[in-house]
Amino acid sequence: MAFALNTYPVSYRSRFTGGKWTEEYLEKPHKTPDEEAAMSAEERGKYEAARNCYDDMPVVNYTSQYGLACFEGLKALPQKDGSLAIFRPDQNAARFYRSMKGLFMPTFPEETFVKACIEVIKRNAQLGFRLHYKSEWEKDSFITADSIYIRPFTIAEGGIGVNISREPYVMIINTPVSAYFSSASSDAVVTERIRATPNGTGWIKACSNYALAALAKHEAVQAGYMECVFLDATHRKYVEEGSSCNIFFYQKSGELVTPELGDTILPGITRASIIELARDKGIKVIERKIAIEEAMGETKECFVCGTAVGATPISSLTWEGKKAVFNDGKDGEFTTEIRNTIKGIQYGTLPDTKNWMVKIN
Ligand SMILES: *Cc1c(COP(=O)(O)O)cnc(C)c1O
Repeated sequence: MAFALNTYPVSYRSRFTGGKWTEEYLEKPHKTPDEEAAMSAEERGKYEAARNCYDDMPVVNYTSQYGLACFEGLKALPQKDGSLAIFRPDQNAARFYRSMKGLFMPTFPEETFVKACIEVIKRNAQLGFRLHYKSEWEKDSFITADSIYIRPFTIAEGGIGVNISREPYVMIINTPVSAYFSSASSDAVVTERIRATPNGTGWIKACSNYALAALAKHEAVQAGYMECVFLDATHRKYVEEGSSCNIFFYQKSGELVTPELGDTILPGITRASIIELARDKGIKVIERKIAIEEAMGETKECFVCGTAVGATPISSLTWEGKKAVFNDGKDGEFTTEIRNTIKGIQYGTLPDTKNWMVKIN
């Protein structure tokens, strides 16, 4: 599975108690990766499942009961010399800080966040749990997207009354991942569902936002699409996002348009990076509202972007029974170029002129 959970043995856990964060690294039972690979699927499954369980944490808590939590997603990307590098972790740290603040939680220091992300990767690597890169490096332009996923997240303390979380945990786990979208089609459909509302939590990387996204995505996949696209809640007219990714329209005019940020759109780090890279290439990038009719009529190429998906072309968009096919259903030149630019920086085939990459070892 492309985006399956296979938690590495070492995880990070911090808890806010007595007015401060107390950190620890937890190491789960494991053998060497080679020994584990040689196990029967069942035996190995048990090891992997056990690494996802912590029986010293409360099950009934404000996260499991009321969805009060937030998370981040980063990748440690394999470089040509066998080392790993993380893309803009300071930006994830800053967003995690804003998310926790938005959820009225004690905030987590940004420096601690970056340090812990690096340290978990290092400790797992020391045990031999590092990426076993399957394809020849660079051969497929990194379409397989093999990397180690870093998932920082909060879990609230135990409690049953509706309440804010004052003493949350912050955990960071690692799991190997590859490409996010596995379906052959790259068609998208506009969903009737609403992801985020004004004055809501759409701008926060909040777990609760994902209930709607999961339902809408499931419905889209059931109907044969790869992805769903959300419209705004108020006018049911303006394009907002994909299920877990931002969206761009490269228009026939040569301008690159993406929905402007507001309280219903998640400020993606990939989105911000693509805006910057496109501007560097001399492309006019405009952040503004874009109506679904305009998006369907004026678009040459469409793509969605995020840490998990990279920049993935959308070949068509269906809305109210009408279907707009972009670039004859083929991957567009601009999308391919922007994808190769960002992947090149991330995997180290292009110079990192903006100092976005943080080397791990
Ligand atoms: C995480 C996320 C994105 C992408 O953000 P990146 O920082 O680029 O990974 C986009 N939309 C939603 C709703 C998200 O949760």
